[in-house]
Amino acid sequence: MVISGPSGVGKSTITKEVVRRTGAFLSVSATTRPRSEKEEDGKEYWFLTRDEFEQRLRGEEFLEYAEVFGHYYGTLRKEVDRALAEGKTALLEIDVQGGRQIRRMYPKAVMIFILPPDQTTLAGRMKNRGRGEDETTARRRLEEASRETAEAMKYYNNMVINDNLEQAIREVIDIIQSNAGE
Ligand code: 5GP
Repeated sequence: MVISGPSGVGKSTITKEVVRRTGAFLSVSATTRPRSEKEEDGKEYWFLTRDEFEQRLRGEEFLEYAEVFGHYYGTLRKEVDRALAEGKTALLEIDVQGGRQIRRMYPKAVMIFILPPDQTTLAGRMKNRGRGEDETTARRRLEEASRETAEAMKYYNNMVINDNLEQAIREVIDIIQSNAGE
C-alpha cells in the first residue's frame, strides 16, 4: 500500500493515525536528508550518510529509492519483508517516483494520493511546518507539488482530498479495508 502526496499535505499525520487505528505496518525509510530536532533515528527515518546509503544501494538492500530535493530516500526490503512475514499490510509513505517503481513491481499495490483542498492552503501549511528551511527550498517544494500531482494521475487509483482530517483518515482506512486480502 503506497501513500504519496505533496509535502505539507498532511500525509504523515494521516498515515500515523491510520497505522494506529488499523495496526498496519509502517515501513521506516532510509534517507540522507538531515534529521530535524523533533525526529529520532529509526522512528521517522533511518538517517544515513550518502556513503552509507550508496553502500546499501550496492548491496541491493532497497526495494525502491529516489532522489528528492537533493537527498536520497529509499524503502528497505527488510522493512517490507518484516510486515509481510507478520501477515500485515505494509504501508509505504513515499514519493511518486518511488510509487511508480512499486507499482511496476507489484501491479496489485493499492496506490493512494493525498491532495490539498487547494494550492493556497498547501502553501500556508508548508510555511507552518517549522522545519527552518530556507525560502528557496520552501519554494521548490511547492513547485514540486504541482509536478508530483500531475505525475500521480497516471499511477494512483485512489485520490483523497485532505480538507477535513478525520474524513481523510476514514477514507484512507476504507480504501485499505476494501482492498484487504486481494
Ligand atoms: P520529507 O523530507 O518531507 O520527510 O520527505 C520528502 C519526500 O520524500 C516526501 O514526498 C516523502 O514521501 C518522500 N519519501 C520518504 N521516504 C521515501 C522513500 O523511502 N522512498 C521514496 N521514493 N520517497 C520517500
